[in-house]
Amino acid sequence: MAKIFCVANQKGGVGKTTTSVNLSAGLAKLDQRVLLVDLDPQGNATMGAGINKAGLTSSIYEVLLGEADVASARLRSEAGRFDVLPANRELAGAEVEMVELENRERRLKEALAKVDADYDFILIDCPPALSMLTLNGLVSAHGVIIPMQCEYYALEGLSDLVNTIKKVHANLNQDLRIIGLLRVMFDPRMTLSQQVSSQLEQHFGDKVFKTIIPRNVRLAEAPSYGIPGVTFDPASKGAQAYIAFGAEMVERIKSM
Ligand code: ADP
Ligand code: MG
Repeated sequence: MAKIFCVANQKGGVGKTTTSVNLSAGLAKLDQRVLLVDLDPQGNATMGAGINKAGLTSSIYEVLLGEADVASARLRSEAGRFDVLPANRELAGAEVEMVELENRERRLKEALAKVDADYDFILIDCPPALSMLTLNGLVSAHGVIIPMQCEYYALEGLSDLVNTIKKVHANLNQDLRIIGLLRVMFDPRMTLSQQVSSQLEQHFGDKVFKTIIPRNVRLAEAPSYGIPGVTFDPASKGAQAYIAFGAEMVERIKSM
């Protein structure tokens, strides 16, 4: 049985996609079988895994509308050694088209159930909104990984996400819980980063992952080559951190 995690934060540019792609590649390096689900119409996770979003025959869009199975729409990221359920701009239309469908918040869950046995981890890269797409992700998942930067406004908006998770937990998915906050783009030379980081630890205790992802230019460069940072430059600090985070997640699921 796969453990399913959403990488979510309704803010854009906080490192969701970088985390989704590199945690997938990090877990693959640890011999875990991984499916990365791109739930963002921007298709950044798809491209970052080395898959051309413009050339898709079928994608998560068809899966959500019941026109394709995950088994036929998934593709292999050779660079990352994991599978990808890809997305592109078409997905933006699904939001409206799904309004007509029954069980519209459970479409992804039902589709993923059919490939459950193929994976150890399914990671869902959510869009920067608390939309019907994100809701489909949250309904499918056992837990949420929340990437955040250690800056002054880091916690702003977090309560909206936490409240949404609570509502989904109460009404749609009793399995759902926050697995942890992941500190990303961390710059140890900044006093503010250090301060916010220790405040997070004081406030949220073991809901803060031990691994800290540093700001690392290799992680930012890798997507333009269509290669996850973990594979692009495995020795870089960023790659090493995501591999360590993979190990932390492997450990974490043992008690789930
Ligand atoms: P989101 O998916 O939340 O919008 P992204 O993962 O796309 O965020 O990250 C936003 C930008 O920050 C991208 O340009 C990405 O390359 C860069 N970035 C993310 N994490 C890091 C990091 N640890 N070090 C350096 N750049 C990063
Ligand atoms: Mg993104």
